[in-house]
Amino acid sequence: MKIAMVGSGYVGLVSGACFADFGHDVVCIDKDDSKIEALRNGVMPIYEPGLDALVGTNVKAGRLSFSTDLAEGIRGASAIFIAVGTPSRRGDGHADLTFVHAVAKEIAETLENDAVIVTKSTVPVGTGDQVERILADANLSVRTAVVSNPEFLREGAAIGDFKRPDRIVIGCEDEFGREVMNEVYRPLYLNQSPILFTARRSAELIKYAANAFLATKITFINEMADLCEKVGADVQDVARGIGLDNRIGPKFLHAGPGYGGSCFPKDTLALLKTAEDYESPTRIVEAVVKVNDSRKRAMGRKVLDALGGADEARGKKVALLGLTFKPNTDDMRDSPAIAVAQTLTDAGVKVAAYDPEGMEQARPLMPEVEMVSGPYEAIEGADAVAIVTEWDAFRALDLKRVKELANAPVLVDLRNIYTPDIVREAGFTYESIGRA
Ligand code: NAD
Repeated sequence: MKIAMVGSGYVGLVSGACFADFGHDVVCIDKDDSKIEALRNGVMPIYEPGLDALVGTNVKAGRLSFSTDLAEGIRGASAIFIAVGTPSRRGDGHADLTFVHAVAKEIAETLENDAVIVTKSTVPVGTGDQVERILADANLSVRTAVVSNPEFLREGAAIGDFKRPDRIVIGCEDEFGREVMNEVYRPLYLNQSPILFTARRSAELIKYAANAFLATKITFINEMADLCEKVGADVQDVARGIGLDNRIGPKFLHAGPGYGGSCFPKDTLALLKTAEDYESPTRIVEAVVKVNDSRKRAMGRKVLDALGGADEARGKKVALLGLTFKPNTDDMRDSPAIAVAQTLTDAGVKVAAYDPEGMEQARPLMPEVEMVSGPYEAIEGADAVAIVTEWDAFRALDLKRVKELANAPVLVDLRNIYTPDIVREAGFTYESIGRA
């Protein structure tokens, strides 16, 4: 089966490479010439573990190719996926559907064969109807169906998530769409990944509801962490104590600096806008968005407190370890590190930062921060070390060396990756999240 993937970013490229690995014939299309040029030269435009090998193997096998030409790329494809960005619209937080609409129009203008058009991008309820209207307006003489197939992969573990998903959600209104989607996902069906067929609007909402629920879980434990600090409890124990209850589950109960990334912030906002448009308020999600927003700068203030307060902090130096919103990605979109760095530089603190993969993307977002070549380079002369992202490289820092290099032995661990007793025994002042 031939599949076209329009948009070759984190989702499109991983999905396309995985479909090719299942044996489909895949063309990944993108309007960004430099991305396609890099991919043709075997250079990955993003950092995702295992992606270069997966792409390499499938290109070599002749199952995966890249194009900037949509008309050419979709020719003969039975399924055409739309995997372009749907960022927050400036000003109001609605999902910006400009890219999705543009792709739908281009497909409508160029489609020459029967095909199922699949939105893999995260799109608000009703977007499938809009895509259907765009296709209908073109009076095509070929058969089409519009399907919603939201993606649940996580950056950093994207290939495993795509190949062994908890579930595949397909929102589909007719038999043609269902048949083609069954064929697309047959290899996963054989893996016994559950496929959930729903109405298209339900599928669209499932993606937002899932992200909002996970964002709520994170925000809930973050607030419990704040309470733990006040009452003298340990959030690690509280999280474990509630997470062992099967009805709650242990995942997404890690207290930290607040959720970030390319999905939760924009998707929670977009869900609020949908709820507003339909006059069906989602007050829990409203609270989650507010609490999380204020948390990020609060984390910056936590570092300032470790320096003796905002007045004392002026002119001092902080080493920021980890900038991406989570480890194993180079994605900086809405990373808590941006607000933490901003809070520090606003207070006149000098910041030196290191991240294993994210510095190139981080540089334009935090121009006042000095990017250095390793954790110990950042720590040299620092009055406090702050761990913002839990990369493995920061889990076993040589504390003796840190103490020697730093100006003062102060460690602020915003991810709780160290054991308080061990760090304190090594002579550090240690601050973490939710551990009094
Ligand atoms: P991305 O920005 O990495 O990639 C989008 C790509 O689409 C870019 O390369 C861009 O050049 C391309 N593009 C835009 N307009 C185009 C056009 N007209 N023709 C061809 N290509 C075009 O975005 P992403 O992170 O892959 O996210 C894509 C969608 O998937 C979003 O809706 C997002 O919410 C959703 N999603 C993302 C993740 C994630 O972890 N990143 C997970 C699940 C769902």
